[in-house]
Amino acid sequence: MTSIFTKIINGEIPCHKVAEDAHYFAFLDINPVAKGHTLVIPKKEVDYIFDLDAETLSGLTLFAQKVAKGIAKVVPCKRVGVTVLGLEVPHAHVHLIPLNSEADVDFKKPKLKMESAETAALAREIQSAIGNLQ
Ligand code: 5GP
Repeated sequence: MTSIFTKIINGEIPCHKVAEDAHYFAFLDINPVAKGHTLVIPKKEVDYIFDLDAETLSGLTLFAQKVAKGIAKVVPCKRVGVTVLGLEVPHAHVHLIPLNSEADVDFKKPKLKMESAETAALAREIQSAIGNLQ
């Protein structure tokens, strides 16, 4: 069965994209725990991140590095944290979360509410920051 994330990659479900190349895709989480919370996924649909082949997994990390640098240019934070859960969506992904304190990575707290226009503007800013990285 096609995952919800494959549907997002294929444009069948809308998202706020921040980066894409031939093998990877990054977009804002629909229920962010912090402003700038981004998901980075391989286009190859594999459920569990540690079942990815070595090349795809290492490429995912390098792609996430670029995305994290872009996020950090837009969202004030001490650093961008990386979390892997994968309990909800069976398509390997990493969460990139701007952190100012440990509490920013608490998935149990109420999610951030953002207007759609604000989210769209944030995605454009991050996308542009990633594009401008040296
Ligand atoms: P996990 O599988 O890592 O436990 O959680 C999946 C994450 O994907 C959650 O943070 C959830 O908010 C996000 N998510 C689930 N469905 C969608 C969707 O359709 N669009 C976006 N942008 N994020 C989603």
